[in-house]
Amino acid sequence: MNNNSTKQPSKFARFLRNNAALLLLIFCVLAITAVVLAVTLTKNKTPVPDNPVTVEPDDNQSTVTPPDDEPTEPSTQKVNVYFMSPVESSGIGLEYTFGPSNMFTFKSTLNEWSAHKALDLQAEEGAEVCAMYDGTVIDSGKSFLKGYYVTVDHGEGVIATYASMQDVQVAKGQSVKRGEVLGYVGTTAESEYKEGPHLHLEVTANGTVVDPTPYTDGTIYRTVEVAAN
Ligand SMILES: [Zn+2]
Repeated sequence: MNNNSTKQPSKFARFLRNNAALLLLIFCVLAITAVVLAVTLTKNKTPVPDNPVTVEPDDNQSTVTPPDDEPTEPSTQKVNVYFMSPVESSGIGLEYTFGPSNMFTFKSTLNEWSAHKALDLQAEEGAEVCAMYDGTVIDSGKSFLKGYYVTVDHGEGVIATYASMQDVQVAKGQSVKRGEVLGYVGTTAESEYKEGPHLHLEVTANGTVVDPTPYTDGTIYRTVEVAAN
């Protein structure tokens, strides 16, 4: 038993000696862990922001904010503006005859039956011919069949040709207002002079020839925004 008491420290020493490799491995793992932790903590201690947050002044904010005394009522209102008859007409001459049901009309000047893709508005010689609506003059001049004519683009795909006039009062490229004088009624259309003085009116909508009647009789209108009074 005495031997046993003296062997106790030598047992521990033998344990250390036998497990030296294992202990060394554990120590190394702990050391590496400590180093990694130390490096990580050091990095976190001095953080460098990748995306520094900068607060930019909102310049718009001050201009968007309305003053207290600004009126709240709407400054515009919607109104219906009708196409107007281009001439003070005393009656209809040759009617619009182009379509599946009524293709032809007799033209006494040409002495033939043919389609009349227009509306003839009879009027006194020299009567004012006005623009049916605001627009831009895209063509004007004189041709054998139409006489003096003006073609106006009235927007939204509507183009009107005012023909058989004495002369032309507007130039190509000119803007015209609804009711503005384009020329005066005459008999210059060689193909229709026997019909008497009249305005020969042709209308196309999106490239298709249409009956001008709804434009002249107060049927067609556009809703536009105008400044409120
Ligand atoms: Zn005609």
